[in-house]
Parts: sequence; structure tokens; C-alpha cells
Amino acid sequence: MTTERLKIIIVGSGLAGLTAARILRPHHNVTVYERGSASVATGGQGIMIAPNSIKILESINFDRARAGGVPIRGIRTYLNREVKEEVSMGFKSRFGADSVGMKRSDFREELLRLATEDLKEGKKVYMKYGGAVTGLDCEQGVVELADGSTDSADVVIIADGVHSRLRNVLLESESYAPNKAGLTCYRVAISTKDAQQSLNDLPLPHWWEPSTCQNRTSLIYAPDGTPRFITAYPICNETMFNLSCLVRSTPSTRPTTESWHADGDKAQMISAFQDFGEDITRILDAASEIKVWELQDLSTLPTWTRGRAILIGDAAHAMTPMQGQGANMSIEDAEAFRLLTPGTTRVDVPAVLWKIGEVRRKRVERVLEETRKVHSTVGVAERMFKNADLYYGYNGIVDAMERESQEA
Ligand SMILES: Cc1cc2nc3c(=O)[nH]c(=O)nc-3n(C[C@H](O)[C@H](O)[C@H](O)COP(=O)(O)OP(=O)(O)OC[C@H]3O[C@@H](n4cnc5c(N)ncnc54)[C@H](O)[C@@H]3O)c2cc1C
Repeated sequence: MTTERLKIIIVGSGLAGLTAARILRPHHNVTVYERGSASVATGGQGIMIAPNSIKILESINFDRARAGGVPIRGIRTYLNREVKEEVSMGFKSRFGADSVGMKRSDFREELLRLATEDLKEGKKVYMKYGGAVTGLDCEQGVVELADGSTDSADVVIIADGVHSRLRNVLLESESYAPNKAGLTCYRVAISTKDAQQSLNDLPLPHWWEPSTCQNRTSLIYAPDGTPRFITAYPICNETMFNLSCLVRSTPSTRPTTESWHADGDKAQMISAFQDFGEDITRILDAASEIKVWELQDLSTLPTWTRGRAILIGDAAHAMTPMQGQGANMSIEDAEAFRLLTPGTTRVDVPAVLWKIGEVRRKRVERVLEETRKVHSTVGVAERMFKNADLYYGYNGIVDAMERESQEA
């Protein structure tokens, strides 16, 4: 006997939407509406995906080599050019997977391949680019598009990012919006070749030179103890480095809706890190694309679901990158759709979505709370290690539900 496949609409082809599409395609018919074009990519800078998500990605045939993924073996902190602390992560033996540094656009490209390539696992996901969704009937599962057309489904997954247009439709309120966290991040990705050229007579710093970096993520603190630091890790098969350069925000009138595609000013970035050393300023000077992002997060929402619609990813829980868990939470959300097992009917859908929302919301609340504790920028690495079991020990929605029922 064949089971009916549910029709599923996903709004947004970011990291959350594409992972959800791949998780669902074996058993259901999935259409993704993306307002941008096929090449909409969330910037060329880096992203670090942690063991909790790598385990999920490996279960859906994610090919890290295609994404130029670099396994990250540990974290170092630097002060005044000296290694202050060093922690070898040993994540693979402890949690079953390591952390991986990638270029965001390569990572998204690989997720797109998993959703759209011919695979043994079910039908291809149908991608509709230039498909901005403007309205939603949560109870009926009907979406309205900018061109005036509509589409309907058994399930609508809202993965339209931090500035979600559909969040307030689902919540039937205008009061939920992200807030600035008081931190600004300049983000650049620089090739080793360009860095060497710009360094000229200076050597690659200890945290970059491959024989000393040894695939570490480095947190380089300000020499004067002020809350500024640079996070550096290798990406693109070790041919490039991602540098996320964090400073306290100066008062700004820029609206929160400016995305991380906003261009940054090179001179301002270099000036903010002038005292980090000439090698660092020369490296920053080699950047050809600078993105700037005033970090924001979203306070806990009262619910993620209504009827046959559910919020996931940044639309449900944007958080700052201070514990590197934003995208990881989005990938975990996507994995939770495994609960839409073959045979789930249209009638069953609201109850299954509600369960997913409740289990995920509790976990994300804890991670958001821990992330907010380091908005002062103090103790970022220490908190990551303190919380390693919480962050990286996650083993999917079924395991989370079993643990919940054991604790009850
Ligand atoms: C500086 C910085 C560094 C970060 N580093 C890390 C890191 O190292 N590790 C980590 O885990 N997280 C990190 N994050 C967080 C991470 O980037 C986000 O959590 C993640 O991108 C969220 O994915 P998403 O799919 O929910 O949203 P997005 O990736 O923003 O995707 C949303 C998609 O929806 C589309 N869309 C929007 N509106 C509509 C509409 N109405 N109709 C159709 N389509 C629509 C958009 O075009 C977009 O493609 C970082 C964030 C920042 C700002």
C-alpha cells in the first residue's frame, strides 16, 4: 500500500529552509518559495557549523568536500600576540562529529544540491525563485504571492529569516521584532595569497600560518582589554580565512532591517582594530568585500505554530553569533520534521507541528539565554566549553523527546 505524500510549502531558501526541504523530500512533495534568484546567497564570508548540526547533515549525505569544509580541531585565544588559552576540541570522539568551517555561499550551494539533485530519496524539491510570499492563512495552509497568485499545502514552513514578514501574521501581532544587541561585526574572507601579498615583508601570523594554526579557531582579543575581538578560522579547503571582527556598536540610526549583505567601510574597520598589530591591519586591508552587521536577536516567542504553519530558523529565534549557534539551531529545527513520518495525514498536521514547536522552543530558549550571557563579549570561548554538552550533545528530535519524557 502506498501512503499519501503531504504537500509542503517552505518560504525561504536559506539554511533552515533548504535543510528542511532535504529532510522532507523522501516522503513528501516539497515546494520552496524564494523571493530572490537562484544565486541568492548569504554573503561570501564564513560560517562555523558545530557537531550538533554536522551529525544531522551527515545523515542526509552532506558532502563537506564539495562545500570546501575545514574540520576545526580546537579553539585558541590570543592576547598581545601570545596564546592565552588553548582547548583541543576532541569533538569527534566526544560528540560524534567535529565542527566545520565553510564559506556561507558554498554551504548553501551544497544544501541546494541536496534538495534539488536527483537522489534515490524521493522527488526533487520544486524551487520557485522570484516567489516572494506576502500573505498566509495558517489554518487553511494557503500562501499569497506578490504577483497576486495563491498556493495551498498541508504544511507551511516559514523560514524567511530574521526579518520575517510572516512571523507577525502567524502571531497575529505586530509586536515581535528583533532588537539590536549593541554589537557590530565586520565580516571578511581573505585568501592566503592575498594576505601574503598585503603582508609583504611580514610573516603570516601564528594563528594563520598552517603549521601553527593547525585548523584552530582563534579569538584574538584587544590588547587594551576593551570589548573588541577578531574570530578567525580557515574555510575553502584552507585556502582562505574568515575574519569576524567584533566591536561595541556606536549609536546608529540604521534600521534593523538592513541585512548582513550591508557593505562595510574598510577604513572604519581598520581603524577599529588599529592597535591589534600591523600584520592584522595589513591583512584587513587585503579584503575585497566587507560586510557589516549590527547584531540582533529576537526575544522568545509565545508560540511557533498556528494551524498548519510553523516558524523555524531565524524567523523563530534569531540570536547573535556569540556562541556560534544561530544556524545550528536552524538546522536542528529542520531535522525535527522527521516527525512528519510517512502516513501522516492532513488532519494530523497541526498536532505534529505543535509538538515540534514546543520541543524545539524549549531547547532554543536555553541556547539563547546562554548566548545573551556573553553579549558583554567577555568569556565567549569559556562559555562555549562550559556548554559543550548542551550545544553539541544534541542528537535530534526523537532523542530530545525521549529525554524529555524521562525527565518528566
Ligand atoms: C555575523 C554573523 C555571523 C554568524 N555566524 C554564524 C556561525 O558561525 N554559526 C552559526 O550557527 N550561525 C551563525 N550566524 C547565524 C546564521 O547566519 C543564521 O542563524 C542563519 O543564516 C539563519 O538561517 P535562515 O534560513 O533561518 O535564514 P536566512 O539564511 O536569512 O534565509 C532566509 C531566506 O528567506 C528568503 N525570504 C525572506 N523573505 C521572504 C519572502 N517573503 N518570501 C520568500 N522568501 C523570502 C530570503 O531571501 C532568504 O533566502 C551568524 C550570523 C551573523 C549575523
